[in-house]
Amino acid sequence: MAGAGISTPSGIPDFRSPGSGLYSNLEQYDIPYPEAIFELGYFFANPKPFFTLAKELYPGNYRPNSAHYFLRLLHDKGLLLRLYTQNIDGLERVAGIPPDRLVEAHGTFATATCTVCQRNFPGEDFRGDVMGDRIPRCPVCTGVVKPDIIFFGEQLPQRFLLHLTDFPMADLLFVIGTSLEVEPFASLAGAVRSSVPRVLINRELVGPFAWQQRHNDVAQLGDVVGGVEKLVELLGWNDEMQTLIQKEKEK
Ligand SMILES: [Zn+2]
Repeated sequence: MAGAGISTPSGIPDFRSPGSGLYSNLEQYDIPYPEAIFELGYFFANPKPFFTLAKELYPGNYRPNSAHYFLRLLHDKGLLLRLYTQNIDGLERVAGIPPDRLVEAHGTFATATCTVCQRNFPGEDFRGDVMGDRIPRCPVCTGVVKPDIIFFGEQLPQRFLLHLTDFPMADLLFVIGTSLEVEPFASLAGAVRSSVPRVLINRELVGPFAWQQRHNDVAQLGDVVGGVEKLVELLGWNDEMQTLIQKEKEK
């Protein structure tokens, strides 16, 4: 399970809190409060603030860091059953983790859906519009096309239901860089069998690690990327990790 804590080291702005660079870009739109960017009612009245965010987060602006590449390494070794992420920056995909190994619980810019005829498109089809500050329109019905980011009140993606079979099957759970505050995502941490070790790599103790500890819980507190790198070293995966990062950089 991963959250914003693996993205901020890549420079992803914390778009929910005022004061970040992105938020000042949004000031020109007079949005009433930051959460309005993710409200459907507001989106249909004024989609521009959301697309300002989309322009910032569209694949290409940011690079994955060691935390993403550690997860990629787990996948390469056949150890990653699934990665459940709360992040919408798509850096898991950029790091080379195939979409079928991912549950992007809060959605993705990789695909988009027409708000009128519900047709689905690759997000890439609208890159030109998003980069050119134009509202993407459906090529079939001219309705506004919305990237598949989950807004407040919207259902989580169908793939989220994979947790029903994934978590009982897991034999190890990593919880990396998330405050475990947003439901139903947060409760997943309690869905692994009680014999399963849970490893938290995070700034501080959160969720069940703080208030419902199990005897086999492990916590590495402090800097998230530093914690992941420490684990990589203990695993003896340093060289593989460096080779992978170098290879990906060259792409
Ligand atoms: Zn349409």
